[in-house]
Amino acid sequence: MLNITAIGAHPDDLEIFMYGCLAAMKARGDRLTLIVATDGAKGGSEPGPALAAQRAEETQKGLADLGKPQLLGLPDGALVMAPDARQVITEAINASQPDVIITHGPEDYHPDHRALAHYVQDAAGFRCPILIADTLMGVGFQPEFYVDITPHMVAKEKAIMAHTSQMPHRFTDAARITNRFRAAQCNAPDGHYAEAYRLERRFPFTDIRCLLPDAPPYRPFYVPDSDALI
Ligand SMILES: [Zn+2]
Repeated sequence: MLNITAIGAHPDDLEIFMYGCLAAMKARGDRLTLIVATDGAKGGSEPGPALAAQRAEETQKGLADLGKPQLLGLPDGALVMAPDARQVITEAINASQPDVIITHGPEDYHPDHRALAHYVQDAAGFRCPILIADTLMGVGFQPEFYVDITPHMVAKEKAIMAHTSQMPHRFTDAARITNRFRAAQCNAPDGHYAEAYRLERRFPFTDIRCLLPDAPPYRPFYVPDSDALI
């Protein structure tokens, strides 16, 4: 049983980028700490405290089957400039005593995602591996590990749909396409879904497959008797 700490920048990031892997980890008995760094107050046409409160509720609903999220309440859209962000994030990580951290990558598309990635890397130090989640629609991301999320895909879409303030169909559509594509990259049979991850490579965290849930199933690509590709 591992302590898994998942940290997303915004109230719907855990659902969009890593829900399936977290559900698979919970199913095998891992303990999950779910952390949302910013309050999401800028993520809508009427920014402000009311939106932040709504988004907090949406996050609690979206993640209900995985656990109760910690909402750090840091400023949305300004994580890199928030004077207390580094300390607040570091303290949350320390308290969770992680064996594995899952978060965004420093190459991600959103400034808050990139800022969070740097804070998390500094906070983790040499303590544990950091698994970096796929980007939106997989843009610019080179996967190293794939997790079969097929049994959790319906729950993932439901979790994303809890974010009613975000026009969430955009993100369920993106997840369905990206996660199907990632499974297809593994040559998994039709109907499978996968999330893709890469490792922030630091000694001694160079191959952590033994810590991850199963990869998608593989179907033989070449059928010797028929000379046909399947
Ligand atoms: Zn985000």
